[in-house]
Amino acid sequence: MPPAEVEPAAVVVIGGGFAGLNSALQLAAAPNPTPVVLLEPQERFLFLPLLYELLSGEMRRWEIAPRYQQLLAGSGVVWLQERATRINTSRKIVETSSGRELPYKALVVATGGRAETYGIPGVLEHALSFRSLEDVERLQAVVQRLRERQRPLQRLVVVGAGASGVELSCKLADLLQGAAIVEVIEQGADLLPGSKAFNRDQARQALLKRDIRLRTNTSVIAVQAESLTLQRAGADAQHSEALSCDAVIWTGGLAGRVPDLNPPLPLDPRGRLICNSCLQVIGADDLYALGDAAACPFRDADQASHPATAQVAYQQASCISSNLKHQAHGEPLQAFNWNDLGEMLGLGIGQASITGMGLTLAGAPAFQLRRLAYMARMPGLQQQLRVAGGWLATWL
Ligand SMILES: Cc1cc2nc3c(=O)[nH]c(=O)nc-3n(C[C@H](O)[C@H](O)[C@H](O)COP(=O)(O)OP(=O)(O)OC[C@H]3O[C@@H](n4cnc5c(N)ncnc54)[C@H](O)[C@@H]3O)c2cc1C
Repeated sequence: MPPAEVEPAAVVVIGGGFAGLNSALQLAAAPNPTPVVLLEPQERFLFLPLLYELLSGEMRRWEIAPRYQQLLAGSGVVWLQERATRINTSRKIVETSSGRELPYKALVVATGGRAETYGIPGVLEHALSFRSLEDVERLQAVVQRLRERQRPLQRLVVVGAGASGVELSCKLADLLQGAAIVEVIEQGADLLPGSKAFNRDQARQALLKRDIRLRTNTSVIAVQAESLTLQRAGADAQHSEALSCDAVIWTGGLAGRVPDLNPPLPLDPRGRLICNSCLQVIGADDLYALGDAAACPFRDADQASHPATAQVAYQQASCISSNLKHQAHGEPLQAFNWNDLGEMLGLGIGQASITGMGLTLAGAPAFQLRRLAYMARMPGLQQQLRVAGGWLATWL
């Protein structure tokens, strides 16, 4: 669509992940909706919590990565398959990768996050990441190579023992079937620092059962083509250790990924837009931010921000769509209140652990319940039904 055809009074949403897609769909579904334009360069939405199941072959690409064309059909959202390159907050214009200038009445920034490398040498060049369909393909190729080669002492290292690192290492160990050692390196004192106690215990057992070695209090200080340099907490750089490995997967941190802002607005130390409790970006009343790209305080600016999860992004989308309506009618905005629904971890093929809503459950039943819960979170009824059909077919 040429720029002149885009209604200048539109709400523009940048990024079609959990946060942006749900914001756009809810805004367009409201009575008397304002025109909504979604800027998203990818062809497919990606249901990131099920990326491990795509890696293991437990789920298929079409189930976890439906096309935007299908998800947005009939929704009223105008989708531009483009990247936002700059936001001009004084002219209220978004510039895109094709050179288009999109005027906005209100702007929602939902551009998500990227791996935080902390400037550690070699991470960008040598470590794999795990956030995209391409990452899954690359990792599948590594697993296949290690399984075919069957050399002694092959090693795959996962950096970070947060939820991503733990879930990924369990799936990898199951896929490798002993063809390589899997090690997890964590700079903190324990795995899953922000998790529920039951899930942490289940995760510990899952690692033990698979002979996955967890090295805590250990930092990665450099990554080379076939090794890592490690340093124990309290030791100096001269007492570093080299660990040889066949591949490194980096899950060691997350930073916000925000388009250039002109004039600039303050970002937090993790590169995220700083919001007030109503999800308005501090310094620009017509700019909202949410999901992994936003730092939003729990209740006031002194408190820590919400966890970077799909659950938070999903709930923030509802808050933003109602606050945009309040703003349009001159009504007071509502603070975002996160309703913690609990935590679900995939712990290897066909296994999971769940803590939430008064329930703790582990093993195969938890795996099926987790899959069911995510099915209900798929965007759009049509995709929910398609995935449910695929799931039922595996039972017949
Ligand atoms: C492997 C993995 C597993 C996870 N598992 C869980 C889980 O089990 N439970 C849970 O709650 N959370 C989980 N998370 C975290 C969760 O997926 C994120 O918190 C959530 O996706 C954040 O949503 P978002 O919309 O902010 O960002 P994203 O989902 O990352 O979406 C951002 C979108 O913005 C687009 N974009 C980026 N830059 C631009 C630009 N300049 N212009 C236009 N578009 C742009 C991107 O293409 C992308 O589609 C997981 C994350 C990963 C990586």
